[in-house]
Amino acid sequence: MNLPDLKKARIRTDKEVEYVYLDEHYQKLFAGQKYFLKTYGCQMNVHDSEEIAARLESLGFSKTDVLEEADIVILNTCAIRENAHDKLYGFLGRCKHLKKEKKDLIIGICGCMAQEENVVKEIMNKHQYIDIVFGTHNIYKLQDLIINKKEKQNIEVYSCEGDVYENISYKRDSKIKAWVNIQYGCDKFCTYCIVPYTRGKQRSRKSKEIIKEVEDLVKNGYKEVTLLGQNVNAYGKELKDEINFANLLEKVANTGIERIRFVTSHPWDFTDEMIEIIAKYDNIMPYIHLPLQSGSSRILKLMGRRYTKEEYLTLYHKIKETIPNVAITTDIIVGFPNETEEDFKETLEVVNACQFDSAFTFIYSPREGTPAAKIDDKIPMAVKEERLHKLNELINSYSLKANQKYLDKTVKVLIEGVSEKDSTKVFGYTETMKLVNVENASDKIGEIIDVKITDAKSFSLDGIYQ
Ligand code: SF4
Repeated sequence: MNLPDLKKARIRTDKEVEYVYLDEHYQKLFAGQKYFLKTYGCQMNVHDSEEIAARLESLGFSKTDVLEEADIVILNTCAIRENAHDKLYGFLGRCKHLKKEKKDLIIGICGCMAQEENVVKEIMNKHQYIDIVFGTHNIYKLQDLIINKKEKQNIEVYSCEGDVYENISYKRDSKIKAWVNIQYGCDKFCTYCIVPYTRGKQRSRKSKEIIKEVEDLVKNGYKEVTLLGQNVNAYGKELKDEINFANLLEKVANTGIERIRFVTSHPWDFTDEMIEIIAKYDNIMPYIHLPLQSGSSRILKLMGRRYTKEEYLTLYHKIKETIPNVAITTDIIVGFPNETEEDFKETLEVVNACQFDSAFTFIYSPREGTPAAKIDDKIPMAVKEERLHKLNELINSYSLKANQKYLDKTVKVLIEGVSEKDSTKVFGYTETMKLVNVENASDKIGEIIDVKITDAKSFSLDGIYQ
């Protein structure tokens, strides 16, 4: 895949990062102006947006959720889904229209799509109303790009990742739970995945920086952290004299934070040591997202996943046997190029064997620049849709079964806020990541409380505070 070579990658110096952060001259430059920030895609993008928001606020912008009120609009894009481009350009149509009325409106694009050469070229050729484009490797330049915005488009996308930078400020969405990046990028190069191209090679943060961030979160009253990376259990592999993910988990557990989660794990990197550490510490939550992708070893090989169906099942059962009451969820892709009926049946067999708590299921869609996109696919879309439907029915039946096990039990729930569907209730998550709508607990937001489960559905539980 050709990546934008608009600017040569370079190593950032501490001085430069400091300059971006500390120049007080910038602080009030945009005071009274508003920013509208829209995020597409995964948790990594959600967390990047927390950094982007902090950088915008450092310039004096304040947040608005109303597009028409904005003085600057930033769209943090995702390249994973096929319809991501359509969604983005659909929304950009609204921004373009708004700019006709508000001449000074600044429009910026960032995230994974901004790392794609064809997208950048399209913006340069057809979307001149977009003022700023930056990539996943230079979010730290945002203030500069805004301040130095001239009549022409300000486009700065690096094709290489550079160093990990620290001391990042975040405008966190929650005061209860926080994302903590432990690594960036991914070296796995699964054949269908664009991430190694848009996010670069794996770079792990130093453990002492991660622990410092978690300790600060504990001091500030946070109850839960989710350690975040494309492939968290490969953490530290490229660091000399550092620790592995199991050691990191143990160190984070010893900070005293009440709940620890992590996403996403790759089965190939899941060690026995990790399983033992998760089982040992009560504050490491018994919840694991373990992407399967396919139950056919033939398809797994074509996907470059590095494990067979049998190896996945062995790992799955080891986790289930060692960690009491663990919940395991997964990702499954249906209709990888030339997936046969036999391959699909094997996926259903694995689902029956594992009885996952839930799963994100997708129809394969080719991402330009990945090896899988070059495979000539003979399977009609109607067949893929039917397979997805069948798979979802099976997954939902197991989700319901898994949730029904909670009926009449009392479980610990971290209450996060008022339920969107019923304002008389609050919502939160069990240790096993089950969504619970809770009665009788409107004054318990931010607390971990005992909840008796009164009803179980496929996607959520109902309960009452005891
Ligand atoms: S491990 Fe995950 S992020 Fe990395 S290439 Fe594979 S699917 Fe993509």
